[in-house]
Amino acid sequence: PEGVLDGRAVADALLEQVQSATQQLARRGITPTLAVVRAGDDMASDIYVRHKERACARVGIAFRHEHLPATVREDEIVEVLSRLNADPNVHGILLQLPLPGEMNGADILTAIDPQKDVDGFHPLNLGGLMSGRAVLEPCTPRGVMTLLSSAGVELTGKRAVVIGRSVIVGRPMSLMLARANATVTLCHRHTRNLDRIVSEAEILVVATGVAGLVKGSWVREGAVVIDVGISRVEGKVRGDVEFEAARKQAALITPVPRGVGPMTVATLMENVVRAVCVRHGLVVRAGELVEAASVGVCFD
Ligand code: NAD
Repeated sequence: PEGVLDGRAVADALLEQVQSATQQLARRGITPTLAVVRAGDDMASDIYVRHKERACARVGIAFRHEHLPATVREDEIVEVLSRLNADPNVHGILLQLPLPGEMNGADILTAIDPQKDVDGFHPLNLGGLMSGRAVLEPCTPRGVMTLLSSAGVELTGKRAVVIGRSVIVGRPMSLMLARANATVTLCHRHTRNLDRIVSEAEILVVATGVAGLVKGSWVREGAVVIDVGISRVEGKVRGDVEFEAARKQAALITPVPRGVGPMTVATLMENVVRAVCVRHGLVVRAGELVEAASVGVCFD
C-alpha cells in the first residue's frame, strides 16, 4: 500500500548491487568472505546468524561460522579474532552479541582489525564516523540512510528526531542525519515531553525496543517514520510505533517486520564488499568495479 516503505524491496535491490559486485570480484579471483564469531546459544542470535548466512549465500559471499561454546574464555575469543585478522582470505569479521555471562562484547570486539570490522562498532570506526572518515559504518543506521535516499526523502534543513541513543543505532543515526544536513534532536529514556518533540519531527527514527512507545497521535502530518524497534508481544513481532494509527498521519512509514530489518542485513553484505574494496583499492562506480583513485570509498 502507498505510504508504507517496503524495506524488503529496497533491501532486495541493494543485494542485487552487492551480488553484481561479488561477481565482478570473482572474475578478479577474489571471493568476499565473512566470518561470524559467536559464543554460546543465545536464541535470537541463532535467527540473526541464519539470516546473515542466507544473505551471504544469495549474493555470493563465502560464510564462515566460528561457533564457540558458552564456556569459552575471553582470551580464546580474542585468539580466534586475531587468527581471522591475519587470514588474507577473510574480509569481514563480526562478533555476534550478546556474549555469554559477564563478558563485555564492546571490549572484546576492539580486537577486530578495523578494516575488517563490518559491523562498524570498533572505536576507530565509531570515531571515524564522528570525523567523517569511517571506513565501515554501523549497518542499521546506514541501512536507514539508504532507505531514506531510495525513497527520495529530502533531508536538508529538515527537523529530524531520533529516539534511542545506543551505540549501535541511535547515536550513529543522529550523526548520519546531521551529516545529511538535517537538524537533529536525540531523545532517550530521560527525555521529557517526548510527545511534543515527536510532534515536531519531519523525520522520525525510533529505536528503543519499547513496543508501541510512539502513539499515532504524536506523529506530525506528512512525517517520514522509521521504526527500528523489534519486540515480541504475545508471540507477534512489534515495532516501537503504533503502526495503524501512525500511518494515517505519516507520509511514509516502515512496517515491522519487513522494514528496517532486511536493510540491516543487506547493508552488512554491502559492508563486506566495502571491506574487500578498501583492501584491494577498488571502488564500485555506477555498478562497475574499478580501481579506486582514493581509498576509503566503495560504492560512490
Ligand atoms: P538499547 O536497549 O541499547 O537502547 C534503547 C534506547 O532507547 C536507549 O538509548 C534508551 O534511553 C531508549 N529508551 C528506552 N526506553 C525509552 C522510553 N520510554 N522513552 C525514550 N527512550 C527510551 O537498544 P538498541 O540496541 O538500540 O535497539 C533498539 C531496538 O531496535 C530494539 O528493539 C532492537 O531489537 C531493535 N534493533 C533492530 C535492528 C534492526 O535491524 N531492525 C537492529 C538493531 C536493533
